[in-house]
Amino acid sequence: MSCAKIDPALHQAHKPSWIKVRLPSNPVFFSTKALISDLRLHTVCESAQCPNRWECWSQGTATFMIAGDRCTRACGFCAVTTAKPLALEEDEPQRVAEAVMRMKLKHVVITAVARDDLKDGGAHHFARVITAIQKMDSSIIIEVLVPDFHADDSCIQTVLDAGPDIYNHNMETVERLTPVVRSRAKYRTSLQVLRRAKQFSSRGRGIVTKSGIMLGLGETEPEIFQTMDDLREVGCQVLTMGQYLRPTPNHLPVVEFVTPEQFDLYGEIARKKGFEHVASGPLVRSSYHAADFHPVVR
Ligand code: SF4
Repeated sequence: MSCAKIDPALHQAHKPSWIKVRLPSNPVFFSTKALISDLRLHTVCESAQCPNRWECWSQGTATFMIAGDRCTRACGFCAVTTAKPLALEEDEPQRVAEAVMRMKLKHVVITAVARDDLKDGGAHHFARVITAIQKMDSSIIIEVLVPDFHADDSCIQTVLDAGPDIYNHNMETVERLTPVVRSRAKYRTSLQVLRRAKQFSSRGRGIVTKSGIMLGLGETEPEIFQTMDDLREVGCQVLTMGQYLRPTPNHLPVVEFVTPEQFDLYGEIARKKGFEHVASGPLVRSSYHAADFHPVVR
């Protein structure tokens, strides 16, 4: 793996040039910010300290994070706050739908914190958000980026029954590193989630399944390729790969910065392995340029 090896303790000061994001101020950024604030919504863009926030918000897009901003898990890579969650807000589905309309989104990504405190893991809340958007405009492509729901079939089915177009569940990393990188999630459980989503989508039009991994956590090339093979084996069609960035010193260190050329190569390999759409690059995140992929499901 031809990556820039770094001393983890110094990584913040030694981010390579391709990681640094500098964008001029853009009025659309501020109108997106104001709209999200007006409607009292959370975004993973902010909560996860995404490096693309300037770019995406300046283009008038964002990824909504439903079911609160307090997560019941404490993954080693994630900046979202771990705390006892508050009750679900009954009017949140309507507020998300209103934001989608006002932002004129043609493709929306909805994610959520892991709600292990709820019996259904928040699956019905996801379904209500999907339904609220569809009621406003049934032509909008709805992508859900869901937690693992402990691979509970009824939760997966609940979300699918609402009729999203893309079912995204991230593997986050390779199998060996999963116990370190993710708190409660298990590699094989996540594969099972994607397999079941594919099997359960019996609405006649099927569903596209999507997943993503972060690189730079110490994984090896054979492990990356094995993860690609495992995803293809469960029918996953879309893959995202991006550089892991440490949100705070309390999170896992960056082990290496993968070069843009190496990301390109991994993208090529993933396409050869049969993924229909691949986004691979240092700043790629699950929802980065998500609308570039137009699923053929309708
Ligand atoms: S890549 Fe996704 S999470 Fe990051 S700013 Fe863009 S929409 Fe938000």
